[in-house]
Amino acid sequence: MIEITDLHKAYGELEVLKGIDVCIKAGEVVSVIGPSGSGKSTFLRCINQLEEATSGRIVVNGQDLCARTTNINLVRAEIGMVFQSFNLFPHLSVLENVTLGPRKVRRMPVKTANEVARRVLEKVGLSGKINAFPSQLSGGQQQRVAIARSLALSPKAILFDEPTSALDPELVGEVLAVMRDLANEGMTMVVVTHEMSFAREVADRVIFMDGGHIVEDGPPKDVFRAPKSPRLKEFLRHVV
Ligand code: ADP
Ligand code: MG
Repeated sequence: MIEITDLHKAYGELEVLKGIDVCIKAGEVVSVIGPSGSGKSTFLRCINQLEEATSGRIVVNGQDLCARTTNINLVRAEIGMVFQSFNLFPHLSVLENVTLGPRKVRRMPVKTANEVARRVLEKVGLSGKINAFPSQLSGGQQQRVAIARSLALSPKAILFDEPTSALDPELVGEVLAVMRDLANEGMTMVVVTHEMSFAREVADRVIFMDGGHIVEDGPPKDVFRAPKSPRLKEFLRHVV
């Protein structure tokens, strides 16, 4: 579903991604771990074109993102993104936050968009908060709205960038539970996370990034129990 070949990304002189090769299959759940500054967020941002790659090839669902004929906005709608900081619109209600994308991007009529929103909000356990504003919700609830907002566009895949890092510890579980449900339903997911339990228990594959490279890529049991590189061993000593 997502095929990345020799992806490079530089910000001016600073080369952040130094040749990333990876394929992600439909239905796969991939966790990306690695130290701060290793390029994890940049990698996700290149996949849904929030950043333009310096070189390399990214093919999503058979569409080459670098080709001039590709409609980037449509590709973006097919790949949801959930950020650490939720990024909800503060002046819009929960319902309006969730219906905005379907109405603007998919040109869905209000009535249909509202139906879709009710369905996805129920899925994340927030049916009762449809008319609330983000400031009236806990961080965990806001992040679940953000996930519902992604789901409302019926994405082929969802990218998560440290979705629980901004949450108080007692609210992490409710967000991980929603993500676990999505994984079980077969959603294709790429999850940058510090939650090693999620990576270990939910991910089909774990990618360890360091210094702009993918250093290890394998099933969680191999990556966690038998790390090959000294850098991953060192990293795991600090986070596990
Ligand atoms: P991670 O998510 O693994 O912490 P990032 O992808 O956010 O890493 O950042 C990798 C490197 O790129 C860091 O050195 C960071 O300072 C730099 N960087 C990230 N975004 C930008 C940007 N928009 N402009 C310049 N440098 C950036
Ligand atoms: Mg990051």
